[in-house]
Amino acid sequence: MANDSVVWLEEVGKEDIAIVGGKGASLGEMIRAELPVPGGFAVTAQAFRRFIDENGISDELFRSLEVDVDDADILRKAEKNAKKIIMEASIPADIEESIRSKYRELCQRELSNQLKGKGFKEIKDLRILKEDEEEKFEVFVAVRSSATAEDLPDASFAGQQDTFLNIRGEQNIIDSVKKCWASLYGARAIYYRVKQGFDHRKVNLCAVVQMMVDAEKAGVMFSSHPATGEPITIIEGSWGLGETVVSGSVSPDYYSVDKQARKILERKIATKNIMHTKDMHTGKTIDIPVPENKKNAIVLDDDEIMKLVGFGEVVEDLYGTPQDVEWAIKNNEIYILQSRPITTIKKKKDVKEKVATSALLEGLGASPGMAYGESKLVSDVTELGKVKEGDILVAVMTTPDMVPAMKRAAAIVTDEGGMTCHAAIVSRELGCPAVVGTRRATELLTDNMKITVDGEKGLVFEGKKDTVAPITPPPQMQLSFAKSKPITATEVKVNVSIPEATQRAVETQADGVGLLRIEHMILGLPKHPKQYIKEGKADEYVDELVSRIQTVVDAFYPKPVWVRTLDAPTDEFRAMEGGEGEPIEPNPMLGYRGIRRDLLDTEHFDLEVKAFKELIKRGYSNMGIMIPLVQHPSELKRAKEFMRSKGLDIDKIDIGIMVEIPAAALIINDFIAEGLDFVSFGTNDLTQYTLAVDRNNEHVAHLYNEMHPAVLKLIEYVITECNKAGVKTSICGQAGSNPKVAKRLVELGITSISANIDAVETVREMVARTEMQLMLKAARERKV
Ligand code: PEP
Ligand code: MG
Repeated sequence: MANDSVVWLEEVGKEDIAIVGGKGASLGEMIRAELPVPGGFAVTAQAFRRFIDENGISDELFRSLEVDVDDADILRKAEKNAKKIIMEASIPADIEESIRSKYRELCQRELSNQLKGKGFKEIKDLRILKEDEEEKFEVFVAVRSSATAEDLPDASFAGQQDTFLNIRGEQNIIDSVKKCWASLYGARAIYYRVKQGFDHRKVNLCAVVQMMVDAEKAGVMFSSHPATGEPITIIEGSWGLGETVVSGSVSPDYYSVDKQARKILERKIATKNIMHTKDMHTGKTIDIPVPENKKNAIVLDDDEIMKLVGFGEVVEDLYGTPQDVEWAIKNNEIYILQSRPITTIKKKKDVKEKVATSALLEGLGASPGMAYGESKLVSDVTELGKVKEGDILVAVMTTPDMVPAMKRAAAIVTDEGGMTCHAAIVSRELGCPAVVGTRRATELLTDNMKITVDGEKGLVFEGKKDTVAPITPPPQMQLSFAKSKPITATEVKVNVSIPEATQRAVETQADGVGLLRIEHMILGLPKHPKQYIKEGKADEYVDELVSRIQTVVDAFYPKPVWVRTLDAPTDEFRAMEGGEGEPIEPNPMLGYRGIRRDLLDTEHFDLEVKAFKELIKRGYSNMGIMIPLVQHPSELKRAKEFMRSKGLDIDKIDIGIMVEIPAAALIINDFIAEGLDFVSFGTNDLTQYTLAVDRNNEHVAHLYNEMHPAVLKLIEYVITECNKAGVKTSICGQAGSNPKVAKRLVELGITSISANIDAVETVREMVARTEMQLMLKAARERKV
């Protein structure tokens, strides 16, 4: 290929990585192989070098990068300086003109195609268009970064530089090319190069300008299994542009196909809430809610799945190694947008690698199971795309918007948190091993380290622990409760927080749901409830609540599902879009949460009640309502009055409270006098408030003991008083998943126990055994 500054993609191939980077070379290669790749051109790495040299900014630029990258403030400053230097320099005139003329030609090519579609055979004569129409015919393109290192051309810098979507017009393209170049000096990219020992001066950036596909649906495909390398193609897809799938901001549909047998093995349909699309008026890429009728609709039909598999095979053959392919579909046409080798397949040599001995990190075993995989550090949602099927997600703490990536992860490791933090609750529901509260995971681990996570013992090892079986599909796909279920007089229920866990929860054959945490569902929405209200979309918010709660009450019908009213600490809600108004509290755990929040913010409580009413209207009489964090019977009274005043017939459903503040336990008879159907022990909070131990603080985790005699004494008192009054008692805190606690509670006469998904089976066995022991004991005593 001629060493030009701006070249057509079809002019380059895999031998040109040094000129157009891995991404550009791969696109060229695929176009040559006649794969359906959108056309475009590349502003080469040489053009970038000329830009640096001819502007004379080299010294200033590279000197500005000589900083201590471990200091976040300094690093951010360096990023700012370097980007300013790039943005203020001008692209050499001949290169700029080449970009403009290639873009004009790209527009002409597209126009030709469209005219052909309209039946025009000869399209060279564009005089058929009026001037203003010609003016308007400017295509939308994506401007993508494709970095390359001079001495190591195939080094991967994937995902570290920026991509700009839906760009139109010559000047905007020129600006975006410069922005791509500037993104070579983003903080993350600088940090990565320093830590990996790359010389900044030797890393160049090619900007690929490629026709945009206004995808109706899009996603990713692994041409072979990304963890095991087996001949199984994995496809993930969602509505709109593929960025939602790549970034992990939506749970996509999942399909797996046995390539050899040409058989679709699995189709998992997810609830797809948002889509990335082009705004018809501004041309900008925006996020919009997925239309109701498409949310739970299957994205790909069998024909599309098999066609994609076929393309995956061609790409894999082309490169001779399994590929991670981005695809899009528009007007029934499939497009291949990008392809790169899968780096996560565990090669045979991995088995012989360093055998783990002593633990690298210690924390709390928050979700049992062992997993081995590559670590991926995630600091915020923009990095979720790094986590591929079978990787180990490492974060300071997980947040609700990380759930899609948590679903792909083989295990989760966090710096912070206790047994009832977000990471712990969600990973247990997903059946994904987790170690939380390690304090130093994000400091000691780096991307792509091979580690073993022991979620039982709370340990993380470097390398492969010999007891770990070869990588198997993520545990969330393997749950099976094949054993026959013992019948127990004490009901054994299950806790649910995320709708995605419903199927696993149902498979436990639990006697119902003893706690459905709706705040996890709300935190998973694209914006804060107040934002919906502000935008006049309160009805949309209610619909979201209804559909999420309905997933669970429907799956368990007619078994009871106790839905808890909102209980979210302000710190978690503040992180949502539109959540800036959340009060900043010195101690959110003791603050504006639970029923006290709903009684002050009745605007929101009203929306919850609307959702409950709608569910009752739809026939879900199995729904009960549970009020969290009550400390005085007047709160129960006011909550009931409010629900009644809004037309919710609470006499027809079960109403109960959580006992999680010692005050509520001590005056339980006053609550009984106020009128309720059940109480449920929230031992996560009851323990922290009784013992003055912050449940999320790993520094005092050693003092957190849900079997502390004071906690047990409160529980015993409440069960005794409730039994006298005929009020049902239950437990939904983490302690209920501990068989020892379960035994004690059955002996005390509790009505039901609600455990985590992974604990239902063992708790049920313990309950059955304890009940039999009690019966035996009673029978023996009668004989004597
Ligand atoms: C509890 O406090 O035990 C409980 C189940 O509620 P949460 O963990 O949501 O505070
Ligand atoms: Mg609680």
